[in-house]
Amino acid sequence: MQQLTCVEVRKLEWREVPAPRLEGDGEALVRPLAVARCDIDRFLTAGLFPLRGPFALGHECVGEIAALADGVRGLAIGQRVVVSFQVSCGRCRPCRAGRTALCEATPTLSDYGMQPLSGVEYGGMLSDLIRVPYAEAMLQTISDALDPVALASVSDNVPDGYRAVAKHLRARPGSEVLVVAHGLPSIPLYAVQAALALGAERVAFASQDAEALALAERLGAHAFETDFAKPPRTWPIVVEGGLSPAGLAYAIRASEPEGVCQGVSFYAGPPTPVPLGRMYTLGIQLHTGRCHAAALLPEVVGLIEAGRLRPEAVTTRVVDWKDAAEAFLEPAIKLVVRR
Ligand SMILES: [Zn+2]
Ligand SMILES: [Zn+2]
Repeated sequence: MQQLTCVEVRKLEWREVPAPRLEGDGEALVRPLAVARCDIDRFLTAGLFPLRGPFALGHECVGEIAALADGVRGLAIGQRVVVSFQVSCGRCRPCRAGRTALCEATPTLSDYGMQPLSGVEYGGMLSDLIRVPYAEAMLQTISDALDPVALASVSDNVPDGYRAVAKHLRARPGSEVLVVAHGLPSIPLYAVQAALALGAERVAFASQDAEALALAERLGAHAFETDFAKPPRTWPIVVEGGLSPAGLAYAIRASEPEGVCQGVSFYAGPPTPVPLGRMYTLGIQLHTGRCHAAALLPEVVGLIEAGRLRPEAVTTRVVDWKDAAEAFLEPAIKLVVRR
């Protein structure tokens, strides 16, 4: 089968590789129909994390179940599904507690399309087929009435934006939210959409990126340009997404006393400075940690089916399958590839 492969830094090729097969009970094979580019894909293909040889790319998709092994309940061949980008078993203690990113059955950072991080090749979603080792835990069925292109990012970035605000708005209903985008903006933009859907009184969006600012306004945020020096005021809930220590420091400064700053950022390099003195004095909480994709899929898909979340509003470019190798290296806030 054909698989989009990152063969070296900034070089993608469609390669002929053996198709995956069912290897045990509880598994599924899924044929991806629409694949979205995650913000981290730009860093993977740029070599931000050292490459360990060629790797399969793509970890956000809507697909169609092509085969099911014995012992899978509640799923049928031909059904449309969102596939969790993280591989998680659904049965271990962290999975049962909803912490599916920390599944004990798989090595840390076991994700599709991210072999440079985990060292394990699970395949990539820009392929004719992917193997899903824990079908019941990792697949979320969706209505045939929904457009696969609209939901392609629900594997990862959409629930990441959602969880950035959901827990905090439950604790502080109706609060105002500031989203600070100091890097690639798709997760922050999904956070804007989720905050408004979950009843935030007002959502502000701070960035240096003119296109992201305009898109945030269209989503209903009050968007303002910033150089990340000094925030104009403070907010009870702040979300920060990006890679710059200046952006993180700005987000913490923008958090009000006893407020909460939620990070959706992966600071992979050297230790990142944090103003603990200010946080201690003012009681500002900093939350970090990965999104638990499989655990979040039912509630996120429920909101989409109810018309309360519209992830397609963040999509800025849709290309055909055959154009993925070029398009995946080109800038776009949110790229979706359709079969
Ligand atoms: Zn991702
Ligand atoms: Zn598990």
